Amino acid sequence: MHELKKFGSLELSRRVLNAITDMGFEEPSPIQAEAIPLLMEGEDVIGQAQTGTGKTAAFAIPILEKMNPKFRGVQALVLTPTRELAIQVAEEITKIGKYKQSRALAIYGGQSIDRQILTLKRGVHIVVGTPGRLLDHLRRKTLKLDSIRFAVLDEADEMLDMGFIDDIETILRETPGEKQTLLFSATMPAEIQRLAKKYLRNPRFVSVSRDELTVPQIEQVFYEVKEFNKLEGLCRVLDVTDIKQAIIFCRTKRGVDELVAGLEARGYESEGLHGDLTQAQRNRVMRKFREGRAEILVATDVAARGLDIENVSHVINYDIPQDPESYVHRIGRTGRAGKAGSAVSFVIPKEYRLLRLIEKTVNTRIKRCPLPTFEDVLESQREVIIDRLSDTLQKGGLEHYRSIVEEMAGNHENEEIAAAALKLAFDIEGSHETIDAGEVDFGNTGAKEGMVRFFMNIGRENELRPQDLVRTIAEEAGVPGGTVGAIRIFDRFTFVEVPREYAERVLYSMDRSIINGRRVHMEPAKVRNRQD
Ligand code: AMP
Repeated sequence: MHELKKFGSLELSRRVLNAITDMGFEEPSPIQAEAIPLLMEGEDVIGQAQTGTGKTAAFAIPILEKMNPKFRGVQALVLTPTRELAIQVAEEITKIGKYKQSRALAIYGGQSIDRQILTLKRGVHIVVGTPGRLLDHLRRKTLKLDSIRFAVLDEADEMLDMGFIDDIETILRETPGEKQTLLFSATMPAEIQRLAKKYLRNPRFVSVSRDELTVPQIEQVFYEVKEFNKLEGLCRVLDVTDIKQAIIFCRTKRGVDELVAGLEARGYESEGLHGDLTQAQRNRVMRKFREGRAEILVATDVAARGLDIENVSHVINYDIPQDPESYVHRIGRTGRAGKAGSAVSFVIPKEYRLLRLIEKTVNTRIKRCPLPTFEDVLESQREVIIDRLSDTLQKGGLEHYRSIVEEMAGNHENEEIAAAALKLAFDIEGSHETIDAGEVDFGNTGAKEGMVRFFMNIGRENELRPQDLVRTIAEEAGVPGGTVGAIRIFDRFTFVEVPREYAERVLYSMDRSIINGRRVHMEPAKVRNRQD
């Protein structure tokens, strides 16, 4: 288990700590707890970490601590494989640096270079960019790297796969010898190790723990949601699940507050628990939960640590945890004292990899469940509705309403009027919408109806066989093998069709995965005029 550490014990400045507090981070993620002290001491670091582990803040925090806002030159350079990541990283740096007057800029192809040049001229402290566009700026001399003190290679294995290795080396050669260099990568192929050897000085290695972990024997399921309909998804699950008491986990304190407010607005009573509460407030919430007077507790990892409550029937990972250990920790809050328990996780497509890492580390399969539909919710509430209606009928006092029904009875069937009244009473706005599908439109990929065809840059020359492909897709994306459709394997590439409902997940899980020792790229197939 990683050492318990607070951000406070990392000796960070007030300004950075305040920004982190505003972001709602409560404690460093494992990769941060390990990497930040080393980086603060001036070490070069290799981090084996993927998206979702908090790796961005792991390097952004020390960079911001060491940055001098008064000096206008570029002091830190972050190389990323894609524009999306460049934007994301620059945003995270901006948030963490908001009290330091730091200026971070994302530089990527596809955006007007003139605007980037203008911003660079005004003075930028931290540049985050994709290699191609960075080179472009270096050639035009619109970007100078001679005052760089930090160079970060983020998702280095991805950059390698995308053929950026020469560009990276060219860029690194433009930076001063005296600097700290960090390399983050999910995998460590030989080429990355070579790069590390060449450009890092006595690097220290940090990684998210991969120790074998034992998990309590409880039912574990997950639901796939989109970021924007997560809350709606949670409400549906709460509606159809027989919960005695549940702890819902969020990644940040802010997340806890927002979720409590969101649940409140939808009529679910819940209590929030996190480190910003006073001890007295915390005690009050815990007592309420312990005595069973609150059904739902929304908490951060830190706040729920040590909570030992027998009747917790469900642990709900509203935000999937940042490492397998936290997962085990969290789900250990249920199934206490030999009672049955369930662990429910909500996963957005880009978190699939993290889910797989958790599954692999804890050596369990987490079952995917379709989100309950509106009909499921209604069905599960049938008895409640009938009870409440009977109750109302019994209590009487319906005279006023009866006259309305009588007035309408001439034009409508009584059943219709009653159903409309129920709809008025029990419908929640938006609750009819299908929230499960949230399918991305991949356009016409030339696939059969209801399927999406993908292109992969691997084929017969890589000894790819259809059965391997089906197995890999089934394992990596967790979809039933039988649902994989037509496969056509050519010498150097392959087309494979998967059902539309699984397409996004398959893409996130398979693109950049490794098959037969080779890193593959997957993308939606494009339809050409002439079929092959
Ligand atoms: P990353 O792995 O850098 O892509 O981070 C994944 C997400 O976790 C981002 O939304 C971060 O803002 C968030 N995050 C990073 N560090 C922490 C932390 N210590 N506590 C809570 N959330 C964090």
